[in-house]
Amino acid sequence: MARLTAISGLGRKSAAIFLIEMSGRRVLFDLGDGLEPGDRPDLTGIGRVDAVVLSHAHEDHAGALDRLDEVGDPPVLATARTLGFLPERLRAGRARVLPERGRVDLMGLDLTLGRAGHAPGGVWLHVATPAGGLLYTGDICPEAPRLPVDPLPEAATLVLDASYGDREGRLPTRSLPWPGRPRRARDCAVRRRGAAPTWWRPWPGPGCALPPMP
Ligand SMILES: [Zn+2]
Repeated sequence: MARLTAISGLGRKSAAIFLIEMSGRRVLFDLGDGLEPGDRPDLTGIGRVDAVVLSHAHEDHAGALDRLDEVGDPPVLATARTLGFLPERLRAGRARVLPERGRVDLMGLDLTLGRAGHAPGGVWLHVATPAGGLLYTGDICPEAPRLPVDPLPEAATLVLDASYGDREGRLPTRSLPWPGRPRRARDCAVRRRGAAPTWWRPWPGPGCALPPMP
């Protein structure tokens, strides 16, 4: 059984921190900080984790790395380009390099990564689970001309970052994959910031909308 806990990042633009627990492992996807002075996430309920995996290096996804001691001083895994954006003092002895595309064994967890089109070195993260997989997009932008997005894998649960969405749009509770791209995601969608991406297409049926692929 796998469990996903949103430590921070739902409902408004703030620190992104998601805890995945499975097969005896506890892993954080991102360890961000708030974007306003004094807006720091509450880490007290997390406990020790085995690793922190970063989607990219922006403040709201990696800004709380100075507080690693509060979650057990775990290693930090990220792509080489993402690690290159982090201050040297945060990387010393803790950094592990992940590929920008591909599948890796993360302490026994089956992790797949692909480019997310938002920041150099930025990736989406998919972890295989007994329930059909969890996909965490981080900030994702299929419209950036020089930053490609790799096709998103099928997943039963989708955590979609809507930072760059249309603030007037409403994200439907459920919708279908983008036409012609039948990558289904059942039972999704954890909404992070209350805004639907411009490429999100509402659909009345079950499943979840995913962005168009290049
Ligand atoms: Zn970002």
